[in-house]
Amino acid sequence: MGSLTTDYLVVGAGAMGMAFTDALIDHADVHVTLVDRRHAAGGHWHDAYPFVQLHQASLFYGVASTELGHGALQQRGPETGLQERARRSEVVAYYDDLLFRRFVGSGRVTFLGASEHHTDGPTNLVTSLVSGETLEIDVRRRVVDATYLSPTIPATTPPPFGVADDAPVVPVNELGRMAEAADRYVIVGCGKTATDAIVWLLTNGVQSERITWVRPREPWMLNRAVVQPDPVVALGLAADTMAAAAEAESPDDLFLRLEAAGVMLRVDRDVVPTMAKTPTLGKWELDLLRSIEDVVRLGHVQHATRTELVLERGSIPLGRGSLVVHCAASGLPYPPLVPIWGPDQIRIQTIRTGFPCFCAALVGYVEATRDDDRERNRVCPPNFFSNTPLDWAQMQVRGTRAARTYGAEPDIAAWANGCALNPARLDPSRRDDPAVLAAAARLADHAERGLAQLAALSEPQPAT
Ligand SMILES: Cc1cc2nc3c(=O)[nH]c(=O)nc-3n(C[C@H](O)[C@H](O)[C@H](O)COP(=O)(O)OP(=O)(O)OC[C@H]3O[C@@H](n4cnc5c(N)ncnc54)[C@H](O)[C@@H]3O)c2cc1C
Repeated sequence: MGSLTTDYLVVGAGAMGMAFTDALIDHADVHVTLVDRRHAAGGHWHDAYPFVQLHQASLFYGVASTELGHGALQQRGPETGLQERARRSEVVAYYDDLLFRRFVGSGRVTFLGASEHHTDGPTNLVTSLVSGETLEIDVRRRVVDATYLSPTIPATTPPPFGVADDAPVVPVNELGRMAEAADRYVIVGCGKTATDAIVWLLTNGVQSERITWVRPREPWMLNRAVVQPDPVVALGLAADTMAAAAEAESPDDLFLRLEAAGVMLRVDRDVVPTMAKTPTLGKWELDLLRSIEDVVRLGHVQHATRTELVLERGSIPLGRGSLVVHCAASGLPYPPLVPIWGPDQIRIQTIRTGFPCFCAALVGYVEATRDDDRERNRVCPPNFFSNTPLDWAQMQVRGTRAARTYGAEPDIAAWANGCALNPARLDPSRRDDPAVLAAAARLADHAERGLAQLAALSEPQPAT
């Protein structure tokens, strides 16, 4: 067995592993070995459906040293005036260039692609999935788990329901390589993948009457216009959130108030959503989604056959020519919160609310600039992705408190303020901008009451 000595062994070259490594090598003179079972960097984007785009501005995604895209506003189409959002091919090309030019080209990163990390007791091993050879990795400093928040996607995760051999069920990726049109598209799922699939079908000429939407839950989504790399917009969003929270009597009431403020969107105004993963959505997409009238609300699908979909509370027939489109992978994962700096390894998680790339870069920066794990864990407590309105409130509380803690460290504040991934960044040239000052004043007016009420809403309610 061969061996390799390195300072850091980073497992996972997805968005999190790349952002961590980038910030680490920028602030510490170390060698990193990056391992991924995929052949290249970029993680789940390699297997994403072909028409996927970032749901947020490109500037918020990627690594701290190198902007993804050009920070330009869209000049045409339904999102004119909003920031550009990279397509899958751009995301993959961006990571490829970063990995080989910046990382490997620097001589400070070794990439072991198409390779599986595993352990034998305390020994770290990496086995090539191509040659079958195993390397023992002697790690001088840290093992870093950059897979802890790896999403599950339809291309690599079977549907969460039984599928008979002759059932017409395909993962969403197949929509991009159809041999012939289906008569009816039955979209199963209620998150970003399902909404993307429906919008794509409609914008490619499929009439809304040919689409059935199986929606076990109703989702809340963030209005994309309020999540933009502009301090007036960012401070406005924070102020709206805290103002709504200050008056809210329950998590549902909070979301209804945020909807009234133009922050949250829902497809069906007659139903209060129970799902709050809150990807962003354009208003033009919302209009298209509302054109689907054949909505099935019979709970989760349990089983698909050639002729019917069996759900928790009933079944629907599948006519000849129907195609069931699997958009029902969970996407975001919900593993237990653990300290980011553990005794055995670093487990990269989010810290502030959302924005996984910024959080992973922050972990890399803090690893490079501090010596004591207790201090590192103090400034970077872990956060989670939300699934329901209640845990969205909890995520806001944790994230707001964490941002105050790391923001109180002058060097972190300075670093974060220069990092385009950071949605709370305030360019010094805008500091005295009257619109920025007004938005900041509005946030200051509501912040303390809003945070206190968010914390109260986050408490588990006593059983009645
Ligand atoms: C469709 C979609 C769109 C999204 N859009 C956005 C967006 O616009 N903005 C945003 O902020 N977030 C977005 N997200 C969320 C965000 O992209 C993800 O949270 C983030 O990219 C996850 O990156 P990751 O590195 O944690 O996981 P992954 O991309 O899954 O990378 C983990 C890597 O680890 C490797 N791996 C795992 N185990 C091993 C092992 N034992 N040995 C070797 N390698 C291993 C895997 O092969 C994988 O490549 C989106 C998510 C999805 C699914």
